[in-house]
Amino acid sequence: MSPIDSLIDRPISSLLAERDHPLLSYEFFPPKSETGMQSLQSAMEGLLDTHPDFVTITYGAGGSTRGQTFEIAEWLRRFRYRPVMPHLTCVGHSQAELGDIADRIHEDGFRNIMTLRGDPPKGDSEFVPPADGFGNARDLAAFLKNRHPDFCLGVAAYPEGHPESRGEAEDIDYLKQKVDAGADFITTQLFLNNKVFYRFRDRCDAAGIDIPILPGLMPALSVAQIQRICGMCQAELPAALLEKLENAGDNVQDAGILWCMEQIVDLLQQGVPGIHLYILNQIKPALSYQLACRFIEMTRGL
Ligand SMILES: Cc1cc2nc3c(=O)[nH]c(=O)nc-3n(C[C@H](O)[C@H](O)[C@H](O)COP(=O)(O)OP(=O)(O)OC[C@H]3O[C@@H](n4cnc5c(N)ncnc54)[C@H](O)[C@@H]3O)c2cc1C
Repeated sequence: MSPIDSLIDRPISSLLAERDHPLLSYEFFPPKSETGMQSLQSAMEGLLDTHPDFVTITYGAGGSTRGQTFEIAEWLRRFRYRPVMPHLTCVGHSQAELGDIADRIHEDGFRNIMTLRGDPPKGDSEFVPPADGFGNARDLAAFLKNRHPDFCLGVAAYPEGHPESRGEAEDIDYLKQKVDAGADFITTQLFLNNKVFYRFRDRCDAAGIDIPILPGLMPALSVAQIQRICGMCQAELPAALLEKLENAGDNVQDAGILWCMEQIVDLLQQGVPGIHLYILNQIKPALSYQLACRFIEMTRGL
């Protein structure tokens, strides 16, 4: 490999195609405070030994943390995480700006982008496309692929429906449009009940969506946190999980991690191509994956 090649990330699509094990990925986010920055740094250091196959870094909904996405992406690379996939949204950007961002990150050697529409700005109930910008992830995907055909594009999907969804059929139809526009793989919104994922996967199959689908998971770390997040993204909070968390006392995090571990074991046994963990810039959520692998190893052949 030449020194130039070593600065260029491998496309996640090729990692997926050539994998000899399910891929593990973590999602980081740009923190808003000094304390948040310290947690991020500890997580980056603490998680290196867990060897994720790739990591991603979100793009702030508003203007505040946006520039940080690419700074942190560079920082993650300096920590020797590779590939690093920055997220990019349509929010507040003209096509010219998106083109500049795409060119810059391509030049810096990034080859993977999580391609999103983004949420309407706070206070707005509807997404209004920016002047000369894009109104959905499909059009951004087509634009990025046209500009740099060697970009590998991830797109989002919502097994329990997007909050603006008008129905399952339409959701799958839009997802298929993103795939046809050039998406290389799909990462799902978090879910806490695997049955929801398997139903979604079957609907994708039926619609001819044949790119890899990475299930997105987040261990519950407190009752209030998981209730808030499930409310925000309209994910079912299973009564059995809520009961476990409420009865766990000081061990609530362990209960959440154990639930997530069981989800992972089941998903891996059902042949998913990988697991994407929403780790919230913390080390502990990653334990769910390590424990799941150990569990599978120990019970193999029993
Ligand atoms: C894995 C993952 C990562 C994320 N990362 C970020 C992030 O970094 N930053 C951030 O701000 N947000 C992020 N989000 C949240 C995401 O931006 C929001 O859920 C947003 O509301 C939708 O983005 P999308 O890319 O799924 O949109 P789209 O796929 O464009 O869909 C948005 C809505 O529009 C509808 N729709 C799609 N295409 C059309 C069309 N052609 N005509 C009419 N309606 C259409 C869809 O059904 C859906 O209801 C992430 C979500 C996931 C699951």
